[in-house]
Formats: sequence, C-alpha cells, structure tokens
Amino acid sequence: MQSELTIALAGNPNSGKTTAFNSLTGSHQHVGNYPGITVEKKEGYIRLLSGESVRVIDLPGTYSLTAYTQEETVARHVLARERPDVVIDVLNAGALERNLYLTIQLLELGVPVVLALNMMDEAARQGMSIDLDRLAERLGLPVLATVARTGEGLPELLAATEAYIATRRGAPWKPLHISYGPDLDPVLTRMERLITDKGLLTDRYPARWVALKILENDTVVLEEVGRLMPDVSAALLAEREEVAR
Ligand code: GDP
Ligand code: MG
Repeated sequence: MQSELTIALAGNPNSGKTTAFNSLTGSHQHVGNYPGITVEKKEGYIRLLSGESVRVIDLPGTYSLTAYTQEETVARHVLARERPDVVIDVLNAGALERNLYLTIQLLELGVPVVLALNMMDEAARQGMSIDLDRLAERLGLPVLATVARTGEGLPELLAATEAYIATRRGAPWKPLHISYGPDLDPVLTRMERLITDKGLLTDRYPARWVALKILENDTVVLEEVGRLMPDVSAALLAEREEVAR
C-alpha cells in the first residue's frame, strides 16, 4: 500500500490560499497552532477523482523561504518534514513578478509545484492577459487559472494536481538549478561540494539550497550549521566573506 498523499498550499499573504483551501476541503478541516508559536496551522482532507483521500496543509503566507519571519521558518520546516507530494503555489495573478519569487524558491528546494494563478477576475479587470501555456512551458509546471472566491477553476486545479502527482509519485525531489552569475556560481559549486561531502543538512535540503541560504545570511540555517559542524561552518562562512568582498 502506498502512503498517504499530502498536498501543501503555499503562497504570498493575501493571494487567496485560505479561500482556496476552504473551498477545496469544505468542512473536512481542523485549525490549531504550531507548537509554541502563534502561527496558525490548518489541515484538511479532500477526495481525488480516483477516490483516494489526500491530506491538505495550508502553509503560512510567505514571500520567500528564507528565515526572515516566523511564517517563513514554519513554512519551510513543514515542507522539509512533511515532504508533500505536491505544493500548490497560489499566486496573485495581478502581481506575478513579486509572487514568482516564492515559486522559484520552492523549485530550488525541489518540491513538485503546480501553479494556481488566482485572482484572475481582478487581473482581467485590470486589463491583463496572461499566456498560461507559455508560462507553463517556460517553468515546466502545470499552470491553472483560478478565482478562489467563486470557486472558478478549482476543480480543474485539483484534476491537474492529481494528474501531476500520478506522474511524479515516489520520484525524488529534483531541485531547480539556477545560475547566479560568474561571481557566485563557482563559490556556490565549492560550497555545494563541501556540504554534500559532509552531509550537512542534506537529509532535509538540497546542498545548493543550504549554500544559498548561507549566502543569504539565513539565521536559522547558520545557527544550525554552526551547531552541527563548527569547522565546516567556518569554511563556508569564509567562502561567503570572500565572495562578499
Ligand atoms: P491568504 O492570505 O492567501 O490565505 O488569502 P485569503 O484566502 O485570506 O484571501 C485574501 C482576500 O482575497 C480575501 O478577501 C478573499 O476573499 C479574496 N480573494 C481570494 N481569492 C480571490 C479571487 O480569486 N478573486 C478576488 N477578487 N478575491 C479573492
Ligand atoms: Mg490564509
């Protein structure tokens, strides 16, 4: 028997995540808090077309996955711990460029992503037209248009998510590799190699992702790395100082 499927909903604050979550899960949900903090935890269940029941987690709203806020720290801990089969990334279609920043961070983490371009009613009102097929092709992901407030597009979103899960089930996460240019790339490669060799946090995160977080001065990753492997941490920080100079 295969283990229970998990879908996580991610997105910037006010992108319509909770509206979509409520509509998808109906009354099959419960709300609590993550232990010791005030960030709300919402989970529910939905039934797929196949009849299979899926657990759905409404992640806290975040602009990135760097630990700048409690929400961001929680969101990525949940992703690393629960390893969802798919993340539905809910975007405000009217602010695509800002919203796609989180998408890229999710892809760098390696989690399979389905994009829900939400608030398409607002985008249309502003005279915007978005080439969904082109975006899907460029990102290599399913991209669906939704209006969570009315429920428009949600059945199609769920069907596309189900189909995507079916093609990826059991496959390892495959982190997207983005070039950060000639100054950073060689440093990233060296850091990545060291992190891989030492197995530093690699049970949870891709090595390149750990390297990027160190370059971003992510306090949670830095603290953990320093505690687990002080000598490796020193070498990685030396790389950061060097490239900063
Ligand atoms: P969250 O912070 O991502 O969980 O966002 P919410 O689900 O709380 O939604 C934020 C606001 O946007 C609420 O007032 C929703 O009613 C509204 N909203 C959600 N989806 C849509 C949509 O597709 N179109 C429009 N016009 N408003 C929406
Ligand atoms: Mg919400």
